Amino acid sequence: MENKKYYQPEFETMPVEEIKKLQSEKLVKQVKHVWDNVPYYRAKMEAKGVTPDDIKGIEDLHKLPFIEKSDLRDNYPYGMLAKPLEDCVRIQSTSGTTGKRVIAYYTQQDIDLWEDCCARALVAAGADKSDVVQVSYGYGLFTGGPGLNGGSHKVGCLTLPMSSGNTERQIQFMTDLKATVLCCTPSYAAYLGESLKEMGYTPDTIPLKAGIFGAEPWTAEIRKNIEETLGIKAYDIYGLTEISGPGVSFECEEQGGMHINEDHFLAEIINPETGEVLPEGTKGELVFTCLDKEAFPMLRYRTRDICVLSREKCSCGRTFIRMAKPMGRSDDMMIIRGVNVFPSQIEAVLLKEGFSPNYQIELSRVNNSDTFDVYVELPPEQFDDSVKTIAAKEKSLRDALRSMLGIGPAVHLVAPKTIARSEGKAVRIVDKRKLHD
Ligand code: ADP
Ligand code: ZN
Repeated sequence: MENKKYYQPEFETMPVEEIKKLQSEKLVKQVKHVWDNVPYYRAKMEAKGVTPDDIKGIEDLHKLPFIEKSDLRDNYPYGMLAKPLEDCVRIQSTSGTTGKRVIAYYTQQDIDLWEDCCARALVAAGADKSDVVQVSYGYGLFTGGPGLNGGSHKVGCLTLPMSSGNTERQIQFMTDLKATVLCCTPSYAAYLGESLKEMGYTPDTIPLKAGIFGAEPWTAEIRKNIEETLGIKAYDIYGLTEISGPGVSFECEEQGGMHINEDHFLAEIINPETGEVLPEGTKGELVFTCLDKEAFPMLRYRTRDICVLSREKCSCGRTFIRMAKPMGRSDDMMIIRGVNVFPSQIEAVLLKEGFSPNYQIELSRVNNSDTFDVYVELPPEQFDDSVKTIAAKEKSLRDALRSMLGIGPAVHLVAPKTIARSEGKAVRIVDKRKLHD
């Protein structure tokens, strides 16, 4: 069996100084490309008094203006195109988690680059050409399915393009065809695990050995739950449509943060309020610059994802900088009665207290005051508990949440399997206080 540790070692293990040199060369070219081809961004640069001559390397990056999701929405559909449309071969779009969908376009070279990034993630998770990769991310406009599908082909794995949904068929194919690597959202992996367990499968009768899960935040507790139920090692993968799709960064066997594919994407951390660039190791908003994408080359794109970068040496031998798991986007944050609350904080408490990751947060407003309800499924074996015992559990969970969040929700323990399962990104928040577009 061929057992390669890296897909493209010449980049993945490049000395840091060389990576920076390569990034500088690519950045200078990329800024010229955007200036020449995207009038909207050129006008933004002009308004800031910057020209391509001012950008001599990555040390000048901070001089460039940011791009935000609103810029992309305002320029829908083709305002950001940097190549003639006839040179483009694909369109993908965001999931629209936080509003109107954004579309991105790709030349064949852009697709190749993106699929290489996914191939790196697969190889880092231990995949080689002898593996059977079950891709259960959605296919279509969403980037999850197409990205990992392409990466899996590049590695030479036997690829099962399952897409999401139809859990029974997923399990049938997984077991009949002996899938060894599963790619889907962590919430769907947890659901598949729950269903396999109900059908009597144990970790050692499930053929999988690894999983690549991303597209939404997930906690260390969920990772443990998935690894134990499926009997696998679970790897995180991060990405966003605006930058290419999954594979902007990926985890190695160390499971200590995701290596950013720095030969293609240049990362910064900024203070989300002031836009100021923060030193490495500081928590802030992640900003990406695409160094060599052709059709949709984002410069200083603000992701709204909050995390930390680390250049600390990794035992896997990769030299690419690592980003911590983003535990929520700045626009995921709920402000409830003036208190900042992230769904990931609630999830961590639930799992610590022995509940399943199936929950939903409901916010509403009564008499000008926010109401805050958390619905959580009871573990099946506790469903027969007396009303008194259940009420006591609700109270103790409320207390645990209050001490974590500084604000106590009304907790409702509900019957197992009553909260809708997601086949793609989980829907955790139902906010009835405002209407989404
Ligand atoms: P949308 O912004 O509509 O959800 P995408 O489908 O492109 O569009 O999703 C990208 C976003 O998904 C990222 O900005 C990030 O918030 C989230 N995301 C992707 N991968 C991960 C991950 N591994 N961990 C946490 N969040 C992730
Ligand atoms: Zn590593």
